[in-house]
Parts: sequence; C-alpha cells; structure tokens
Amino acid sequence: MAKSKLHFNSLTVHGGQKPDESTGAVMTPIFQTSTFAQTAPGQHKGFEYSRSQNPTRQALEKSIASLEGTEYGLAFGSGLAAIDAVLKMLAPGDQVVSTNDLYGGTYRLFTSQFQKFGLDFQFVDMQNPEEVEAALTERTKIIWVETPTNPMMRVIDIAAMAQLAQKVKALLVVDNTFATPYLQQPIGLGADIVMHSATKYLGGHSDLVLGTLAVKDAKVAQQLYAIQNSSGAVCGPMDAFLTLRGIKTLHLRMQRHCENGRAVAQYLRNHPQVDAVYWPGFEDQPGYPIAQRQMKDFGGMVSFRVKDDQLKTASKVVSALQVFTLAESLGGVESLAGHPASMTHAALPPEERAKNGITDGLIRLSVGIEDAQDLLADLEQALKF
Ligand SMILES: *Cc1c(COP(=O)(O)O)cnc(C)c1O
Repeated sequence: MAKSKLHFNSLTVHGGQKPDESTGAVMTPIFQTSTFAQTAPGQHKGFEYSRSQNPTRQALEKSIASLEGTEYGLAFGSGLAAIDAVLKMLAPGDQVVSTNDLYGGTYRLFTSQFQKFGLDFQFVDMQNPEEVEAALTERTKIIWVETPTNPMMRVIDIAAMAQLAQKVKALLVVDNTFATPYLQQPIGLGADIVMHSATKYLGGHSDLVLGTLAVKDAKVAQQLYAIQNSSGAVCGPMDAFLTLRGIKTLHLRMQRHCENGRAVAQYLRNHPQVDAVYWPGFEDQPGYPIAQRQMKDFGGMVSFRVKDDQLKTASKVVSALQVFTLAESLGGVESLAGHPASMTHAALPPEERAKNGITDGLIRLSVGIEDAQDLLADLEQALKF
C-alpha cells in the first residue's frame, strides 16, 4: 500500500520516512553533518550543505506535510522562527489581520520586530467574522488564525476565515499548535499555511524547541524554502530526529490528553473555588458548534479562573500543585500549570490582557497523560483553602 494513502494513525509512524538506503537503518539516522561530498562540481545526491537541505530535517519536513495533508513541509529552529519566515514573504505596507488573544510571543514578534519594517497588524475578535471582514483592506496579505486560542480557548471558524481570505486574495495561516493535526487539519478547511510550535504536542516530551510549516501551494512553498535557506533559521538534525520520534506516538498521546482534559475541565467546573472554566468541549460555550465541526476532540488545554480573581490566590494554587509542574510551555506528556498574566502573556500590555479575559486569577493547565485520578487529587489539594 502506498504510504501516502495511509490513515493518520499510520502516517504518524511512517509519514515521510523509509529505511536508510545506505545502511538499512529502520529509523531515520541523525545526519550530524554540515556538508556532503560531491563527485564532480555540482554533482551530489540532493544534499549540499545542511542549511539548505539535511536528510534528517527533510524526513521531518515530509512527515509534517503528510500529517497536514499536503506535500510541502519546512522545519525551523523554533515556532517563532517559522512565523518569522512567513512574515518575511510580506513587503512594507502589507497588512496582517489576526486574533486579539494571540500567543504572547507571536504578538511580540509582530509588534516589536515587524511593525518597524512597515507591516501593519490588526488584532480583532475572530469569533466574529463580521469584525474580521471589517478589518480587511486591499493591503491585507495574511489572515493569521490561532484556534483554539491561548489561553482563553476560543474557537475560530477556519472555513469562514478561508472564505474571507479568498475574497481579498490573502493567505490564510493557521497556528495549529494547540489542536495538532490529530484534532484539526486546517488545509482541508481552506488554509494555505499551517504553523506548529513542535516544541509542544508534536515533540510531545518537553525536550526540544522546534517549529514547522506545512504549505498547500507549490509557489508559496518555494518562496518559503528560499527564505528558510536565505535567513537560515533551520533546526539541527538531533532536534529533527527527536521531533520525528515524538510524532510516532502523537495519536496515542492526544487520545489520552483529550480524555484527561475532559476529566479536569468537568471537575473544575463543579468546584466551589472556581469561577469559570475554558475548554472547547463545553456544549454551552459559543464556539462549541464550530469546535464540533472542525475538531475531532477537544484537546488537553484547560484554563480556569479562581473565584476571587486575585493574583495571590492564583499564585497560591499553582505553587501548591505537586503533580502539575509550574512552568511555561505545554503539550508534553507531563502536566504543567501556568499563570498567563505573569508568564506566557506578560508581553501583552495589561489593558490588552484585561480586554481579552486574561485576568490575574486565570490559570492555564496543560493536562498530561498521567492517571486522571492523580491529576484531580492534585487539583483538589491545591484548591483547598
Ligand atoms: C509556543 C508557541 C509558539 C512559539 O513557538 P516556540 O517553539 O516557542 O518558538 C507559537 N504559537 C503557539 C500557540 C505556541 O504555544
């Protein structure tokens, strides 16, 4: 059976990979080399210099492309390096329309690094397509979507955004870090580029920093390969190998992340010390019908607000947790807890944070793959006061 015809749960294991031709090694070797021998000037086996092409990175690039349902993939030294490459397709005067509760690091890259080169960024409530439409101009070149959003777990309608992007001939880029291709495949919904911080669920073990792009169209992909080679923000072969290894169990891990996420969200919703819980799987949330349509399940990210919404209380809770580790990041096998206002979203001005619900009492959980009973017991003891 042709490998491209495999189901998702087999592509995680096999996508873009085959036994090494020179040795038969079943796992893609870590090609820890900067350069490749040529038999005559310009005669080589498709690899010249590891910034331009590296076999381990190439296997990962093909793997991520296969998971996102396309042919073109690229891997970078971090998620932000991948985003940086996408923005370098633009020219002064171009506009990006994005969501108002964007990942803090993306917001910082947009506003602190690219605004000064004459790019214009508009941040709107993307749950409301009319608000997006009102922000579009003939200068809009990219609609940048993140769904579910971080940390408020708002759900944005990817297919609706694709229609708007087509109207103004802009590219639709989806940051698919939270959902992963296991839960959501944006290219099938009309996206042009899918970005991942593979640091999170794709790598899945909190042992690397890496970013990827999957691209629908050959022409756009060629532009991005040229930027990748010119700017050089590539990942090393060791991290590419670790990401490939992580991806092999993505479907198994995601299944457990979703089960545990559901258990934690439901537990917190009934807790007297908790004021609000944000998780895309609650039927009474505005984004639920869209989540049900575009996602296979609801993921392992859950945010909640402590009753008094005070920094002191939130701080006490996250410090008391013992199975959950207080740390930045998400998507690893181990459960993590974070305080967005002072950690991941500290880069956002306080007014921006408050406007989007990122108050001092908000806690974000990345629910891992441990036994759910241990996670609930840990929350129980930390919320006892
Ligand atoms: C972490 C993250 C990024 C940035 O990725 P890095 O690998 O940390 O550079 C971008 N978007 C989202 C949603 C993230 O969680």
